[in-house]
Amino acid sequence: MRAPLIAGNWKMNGSKRDARALLGGVAAGAASLQGAEVAVCPPFPYLALGEAELADSVVCLGAQDVSTESAGAYTGEVAAAMLAEFGCRYVICGHSERRDYHAESDTLIARKLQAVIANGMRPILCVGETLEQRERGETEAVIGAQLDGVLGVVGIETFADLELAYEPVWAIGTGKTATPAQAQQVHAFVRAKLGVSDRRIAQGVRILYGGSMKPGNAAELLAQPDIDGGLIGGASLDVDDFLAICRAAE
Ligand code: PEP
Repeated sequence: MRAPLIAGNWKMNGSKRDARALLGGVAAGAASLQGAEVAVCPPFPYLALGEAELADSVVCLGAQDVSTESAGAYTGEVAAAMLAEFGCRYVICGHSERRDYHAESDTLIARKLQAVIANGMRPILCVGETLEQRERGETEAVIGAQLDGVLGVVGIETFADLELAYEPVWAIGTGKTATPAQAQQVHAFVRAKLGVSDRRIAQGVRILYGGSMKPGNAAELLAQPDIDGGLIGGASLDVDDFLAICRAAE
């Protein structure tokens, strides 16, 4: 049984004041949730606030990225140990915006997974295809290659210590959502692919869907057998919308 996880990816949005209000609202609303795990991933400067505001709450804290390195002359980078110090449980790795704007490779992403796990946290590893790739019928080949690129570095055992997120790039922040059938097909493909290496790990790994998930479509997506939660961008910035998605996961 895979307990659903709803994780909010705030990206580079809001102010300190907004962050405090959002953290407080989510913490209060999540207290009555049964059966769904909830996490929020604020920008780095608000992690200390997150640690304080979520201290007595069921809501977990997460970060949006991490360095592959543990310390040293890496200006602008943040080490996994630092995230762990602030109480992070999850770290998003390989988000399509990082792959696209920062040219993150599968090998680099795999090293981020290792850094996160070595520091006692769980990565949320994102994979997904662009619209052009989908239209060329390459969805499974692209996602298969993203998984192989990581598997070649870390091995299947690492997938017992992480969550996956299928995020079709064409659905992120666009208002276009994969249909439940489209999403389920990819989630089932991912699980079957991992199952070739290790059936038990493939059955246990949580695969979240991300891409314009909102209150109006969450229940149908989350009802699919291989969709184990959501990675929520835009809708995680609104307390009521985010909590409505969390409730749809119960
Ligand atoms: C995301 O970027 O992880 C995401 C799913 O964004 P949105 O929900 O805004 O599409």
